Amino acid sequence: MFCESFVRREIDDLPFYRCTALEELTFLRHGFSTRHGGVSPLPSRSLNLSFVSWDDPQRVGENRKRFTHALELPDALVTLSQIHSDRVHIIEEKPDQRNPSPQGDALVTRSLGLVLAVQGADCFPILIVDPETKAIAAVHAGWRGTLARIAAKTIAKMRESLGCDPARLLIAVGPGIRSCCFEVGPEVLRAFQTEFAGVQLGQTSASGRLRLDLRRALEIQFEEAGASSERVYDLGKCTRCCADEFFSFRREGPRSGRLMGVIGLV
Ligand SMILES: [Zn+2]
Repeated sequence: MFCESFVRREIDDLPFYRCTALEELTFLRHGFSTRHGGVSPLPSRSLNLSFVSWDDPQRVGENRKRFTHALELPDALVTLSQIHSDRVHIIEEKPDQRNPSPQGDALVTRSLGLVLAVQGADCFPILIVDPETKAIAAVHAGWRGTLARIAAKTIAKMRESLGCDPARLLIAVGPGIRSCCFEVGPEVLRAFQTEFAGVQLGQTSASGRLRLDLRRALEIQFEEAGASSERVYDLGKCTRCCADEFFSFRREGPRSGRLMGVIGLV
């Protein structure tokens, strides 16, 4: 199911997705990458945006340059050393050269010129904007981070530290692994059923495998944090199903490329 509140753009042969509600805001630029438009192998012209061991750092640098150029953003990404946690960082200036990527899974800023980026292949990239205070956030939500309520904690941090009204936030959820494909063990499903008591997050497939609805667990957090469901936009694409468009760790293994969700004030 492809959501009508997103559009596919293509600049210099580099396709990406944008949420139309965010695209209307002239004070920011954002986008969700696909696997195309770069210089990495796998098999060719792949847009791997992470410094993984199998890819040449120069190629990754070139891919990041091409992607930020397509988004009309400066080629100076603030990234995280992502650890599947509930750690949220408010960034006011460019991170220190000695510690360029703080450990955690969400970045928040109100500073012009800081381009926030989260990376993944199956984990959900989430971009959040408060049109009033012009605060922006980028969140990386895999199952561990979702279980630790990374999405709700990011919204809480925006409210407490930057005075953002959660009901006013625009939330764009990019490509991730959905309930059609996300097989988990019984212990993972049990942990989710305990954390999100009373909500049905699992289902058993025809072949008897358990599947987790990570997207629904995120939606619950948006609601609980006070966000308006009418202002949550979901691209609706599963990374594992859409092999022609996205990287998927579950499908491709350690040699999978990585996608990005990027947002910056201009
Ligand atoms: Zn799927």
